[in-house]
Amino acid sequence: MANPCALPTLADPPSEQDLASLPKLEKRIFRRVGEAIGTYNLIAHGDRILVGLSGGKDSWALLDVLTSLQKRAPVKFEISCITVDPGFPAFNPDRIAEVCEQRGLPHNVLGAPIDELVRQRPDATPCIICSRLRRGLLYSYAKQHGFTKIALGHHLDDLLETLLLNLFFGGKLATMPVRLTSDDGANTVIRPLATCEEEDLRRFTWLKGYPIVPCGCPLCACSVLESRRKQTKVLIEQLQGSIPQIKASMLKAMSNVKNSHLLDLKLGALTAMGVDEAVERLG
Ligand code: SF4
Repeated sequence: MANPCALPTLADPPSEQDLASLPKLEKRIFRRVGEAIGTYNLIAHGDRILVGLSGGKDSWALLDVLTSLQKRAPVKFEISCITVDPGFPAFNPDRIAEVCEQRGLPHNVLGAPIDELVRQRPDATPCIICSRLRRGLLYSYAKQHGFTKIALGHHLDDLLETLLLNLFFGGKLATMPVRLTSDDGANTVIRPLATCEEEDLRRFTWLKGYPIVPCGCPLCACSVLESRRKQTKVLIEQLQGSIPQIKASMLKAMSNVKNSHLLDLKLGALTAMGVDEAVERLG
């Protein structure tokens, strides 16, 4: 696999030859998104979908795919965009708003005191505070405005890295779900790009000319969580050199869980050891 750092920078305009690769790439991304939508029942007729639009490559790819699907899908659904402004001085959502306006898409910016809170609590893991705040804001906005789904731009590499992060550092087997209903049942989060590779999305948004808006977070390069995530990304890339199909195999494994061959008494261990003994152990 090509090193993502070796790809042309997003600032370089694509050549004619680069642009010629767009139809094939687009077809692959749309096929994967279509399969994910069908398999996990992500979009239904009458849905009002709130798209989390950070201005990063993944969120632009998500918006592009959903707006294209909206035009040709047999089911009718509505799209609206939301950008969380974390208050980092270097973050500017104006360009995001401009693109949405040009495309006639409703767009709102939600201010969040993430910069302030992260600075006030240097002891706490800042990324945890940040993601809880963002999630809380999106959930309450969606609920308040009657959105039936919140669409996020996480992709296959995010899912694989999260799986390894949980395995190596969190002591659990779990990743980001493709579809998740919140504990109170009020919100449903969907991740239509869950089976698309990051490299494809990076190239797609570059070829389509979307403006990449930096998040402006001073911790992106140095927080503990971010550096662990980079570590797992590098690990997968290194392994891919000798196991080219590693991502496809990991993706398949996530949808092919053998409960009985794990050690969780709440799941398969019940059948492996016999119900009576397992119930006794669970108390
Ligand atoms: S690195 Fe990302 S998750 Fe962590 S505080 Fe910054 S913006 Fe939030």
